[in-house]
Amino acid sequence: MSELDKIINECLGEECKTCIEDCEFLKGLDEAPGTLARKLKDGLFRVDKRLAYRCNMCDLCKWNCPKELSSGDMFMEIRQAMVKEGLGPLPEHQFVKRDQNFSTSDKFAFANYNPSAERCEHIFFPGCGLSGYSPELVIDTYEHLRRHLPKTGLILGCCGSPTRFLGDEPRFREILNMLIAEVKALGDAELIVACPECYHTFKHCAPELKIRPLSCILSEQNLPVEVLSGEGQVFSLHDSCKARWEPEWQNSVRALIGKLGYEIEEVENSRDKTRCCGLGGMVAYADPELTAVNIKKRADEFGHDILTYCASCREALSAYKPALHVLDLIFNPDWRSAKTNPQKTGKARRENQARLKQMVQERDHS
Ligand code: SF4
Ligand code: SF4
Repeated sequence: MSELDKIINECLGEECKTCIEDCEFLKGLDEAPGTLARKLKDGLFRVDKRLAYRCNMCDLCKWNCPKELSSGDMFMEIRQAMVKEGLGPLPEHQFVKRDQNFSTSDKFAFANYNPSAERCEHIFFPGCGLSGYSPELVIDTYEHLRRHLPKTGLILGCCGSPTRFLGDEPRFREILNMLIAEVKALGDAELIVACPECYHTFKHCAPELKIRPLSCILSEQNLPVEVLSGEGQVFSLHDSCKARWEPEWQNSVRALIGKLGYEIEEVENSRDKTRCCGLGGMVAYADPELTAVNIKKRADEFGHDILTYCASCREALSAYKPALHVLDLIFNPDWRSAKTNPQKTGKARRENQARLKQMVQERDHS
């Protein structure tokens, strides 16, 4: 049964509305998802083409719902139906398509097998977000992994989730299948995944891939002694909404931060109860005002400088508070000044992705 039909049949309606209290998007609609689902089935999405693209796909509604109904999954189905009918994505999403085309092109996409190893046992997959945020962090993480796990290769590219969020399932599958073919060509090794969004995509859409969070690997390895000196400084930790159902991610990040010597402020909405940073689901293109409200709402929960383990979350939250990716604390000696760096533009991210590919190629030939 589709999630839309499930919500029509099972939603407890107006006397419940539990999911609405914690979601600015649903609050603005002020209707129980059951009522909304019936209207969508009757064709509301053909009249209001923006509606389904205003959901962060964060799954908080499912976590809050006594029936575990996911309005996010329902809106994903509507986005897919809109693409099939030629109604979606929205004209503003051309920027997402351009970014996606870039990150799957020869300018960035690249598979690298460590030539000194007989075969790959692991493949580091930083994803396009971290690569656009900091090529230096990717290179240093890759070198660290190769020191501890010498048979580690690298794939630069995108998991395809931005395209999936637009509802373009055929193009998403094309991107994902190219990636799966590259993994197989490198020996079908375990992917060490840096980004919770990529991990979520692989887990649900490519279950044949062997995947492990980067934070699990790093929390188990020896790290450079000079970075193990946090001296108890406190950071507020933001859990990615894509790690909501992933205790392995949540625990390993906390273990890693503790190992570095830092303390964590655990806010009320953390771990499985976390809130989206505001950028989930490509909402910024469909509703910039709602996005700004959600980013500020999340940033306001934190009393200290923010630590994330998703580069996009770091970029979003840095609009309101100093913010870092946890890898900055390990591999960026200038993290104290980097925490106030503004969010990068799309152009800067693409330049960083291209520079990263060059850096990898130059190092392998030096
Ligand atoms: S929490 Fe679940 S049952 Fe309650 S209104 Fe929302 S979708 Fe319906
Ligand atoms: S997935 Fe997130 S943004 Fe979308 S309806 Fe549910 S709680 Fe709201």
